[in-house]
Amino acid sequence: MQKQVSGAVIEVVQGDITRECVDAIVNAANESLLGGGGVDGAIHRAGGPAIVAECRKLGGCKTGDAKITTGGRLPAKHVIHTVGPRYRDGTRGEAELLASCYRRSLEVALENGVRSVAFPAVSCGVYGYPIPEAARIAVGTVKAFLETHTGIERVRFVLFGPDTFNAFRAALEAA
Ligand code: ADP
Repeated sequence: MQKQVSGAVIEVVQGDITRECVDAIVNAANESLLGGGGVDGAIHRAGGPAIVAECRKLGGCKTGDAKITTGGRLPAKHVIHTVGPRYRDGTRGEAELLASCYRRSLEVALENGVRSVAFPAVSCGVYGYPIPEAARIAVGTVKAFLETHTGIERVRFVLFGPDTFNAFRAALEAA
């Protein structure tokens, strides 16, 4: 499913983000940027050691921020590493931090000439964010960004399982 926003396209698909042929895929990393489980582990396995070698020079990444590296052996040219919030009870600034992940990732994309970006469901795995709420924040933040910036042509949410896929599809339909 897809939607046109100010000359750009937002898409929601089910799949494995490591296979995406876009300028940059986004990694749901942790503050160390030195690798982890979930989508982070999958990206480092598929992209090879060049990614972590660059990550080591970046000095980590704060929650809500984003940093870019090579895509190594991935079909995508770059990986943008963002660090989502761990969800606790919703009163610890989680929503603003999650929105910041999507905003900062797109800012870093623009600064590096990236025109197509694929996002996973940041914070929706081990970090425990309630999926429908995370989907609304993700879609709403990306849509607002595309309405106020030019240069990004395509943003694709690549969801691994049916629950996240259905939630992101519903959020995009409602947006
Ligand atoms: P976080 O720590 O931010 O919660 P996780 O990696 O645990 O990050 O999960 C984020 C989301 O990424 C989850 O919805 C998980 O199912 C999904 N995911 C895991 N592997 C992949 C993959 N290869 N491609 C796309 N999404 C993936």
